[in-house]
Amino acid sequence: MKSFDFINLFLYGFRNLLDKWIYLYTGLFIPKPINFYIVPTLRCNARCKMCFIWAQKDPELTYSYWRMAINQIVGWCGPAAKINIAGGEILYSSMAFKLLQYSARKSFMTGLTSNGYLIDKKMSVKLIGLNLANINISLDGINDKTVNFLRGRSDFFEKTINAIKFLVEERNKKMSRTKIIIKTTIMGPNIKEIYGLVEMALKLGVDNVYFQPVLPPFEGNWTENQLRSSVLWPSLSESEVKNEFNRVIGLKKKIKGFILNSEVSLISMMNYLLGIPLKIDHPHCEIDLTTLFFEPRGAIRFCSYYQPIGHIKDLQKIKIEEMVKKSPALKLRKTMRKCGKNCLVTCMSDKSISDYFNIFSALVGWSYKHKSV
Ligand code: SF4
Ligand code: SF4
Repeated sequence: MKSFDFINLFLYGFRNLLDKWIYLYTGLFIPKPINFYIVPTLRCNARCKMCFIWAQKDPELTYSYWRMAINQIVGWCGPAAKINIAGGEILYSSMAFKLLQYSARKSFMTGLTSNGYLIDKKMSVKLIGLNLANINISLDGINDKTVNFLRGRSDFFEKTINAIKFLVEERNKKMSRTKIIIKTTIMGPNIKEIYGLVEMALKLGVDNVYFQPVLPPFEGNWTENQLRSSVLWPSLSESEVKNEFNRVIGLKKKIKGFILNSEVSLISMMNYLLGIPLKIDHPHCEIDLTTLFFEPRGAIRFCSYYQPIGHIKDLQKIKIEEMVKKSPALKLRKTMRKCGKNCLVTCMSDKSISDYFNIFSALVGWSYKHKSV
């Protein structure tokens, strides 16, 4: 990362923290968000047990709408705005590469999340060539039995591991700044593999691992009770679940900076998977001051659990910075501030200063020397 970009990013993050604080205590001007999730497609080549996105058949909005959204984000927040492009499986969409290329030109903090299935040698060269801030690859286990079962296809494990190897190799060859991060959803079938997954990630040479717990899928209309009675929920005893998390927390302390979740967030996940109600010890949710989602059907939201604040097509008439300051956004801000939901999706959950520091240092490349364990 160029030193100018680094300073820009630092100042942008610092400004958000300061403005957030001023807003929460005085109600003065609304801060600019730091995280934007652009999700142009629901289509996916996996058939995951924990997500029904792939079963949706909605037509996609055209490329010009997503380009307009990116233009407005960068016009409002500048090139340090973190733009995360995902799906469905984003690389399954015909506009993926064009959109990534466009976003990477506009924001030096553009990142991508993929399941890795389509990333072969040639694709890894193209993706590393974009000089993205990060490429997140979802990987939910350490062997073909677990991964292929969860993904619902017989060759997913092999393809995903190869994708990671290609990306790491190409990144090292080009001495690119792009961070390769493994994202793992912790659930029944893989909870006994999470320690091994960190060990495997170290061997593969990725930069970081980021965990999140299984949640009721947005597209499946599942309740938490349905999830808890499904195969996705851990059937281990309390002491076994604690043991798995304690081993990972021990590893986190040993290899500093490699596991991006804070210890507090890992403990919250453990308690959630044990059915212990989440202790909400903060006075308010601040997602409306940090994050915006642009969803496949065009909805723009602060949080996936609440109504949209508008539609991408509205951006032809109203700028995004105006949309977030008007109704229904204003009303939603008040409701969401008091939200008491279990909130552990990594892109939405409340983050401590230490979480922000971990993510910031990972993305700017303050990497520690990761040793094998
Ligand atoms: S979890 Fe990811 S990879 Fe699996 S179906 Fe959903 S979008 Fe596709
Ligand atoms: S679900 Fe989470 S992110 Fe959304 S409003 Fe509630 S606490 Fe905030």
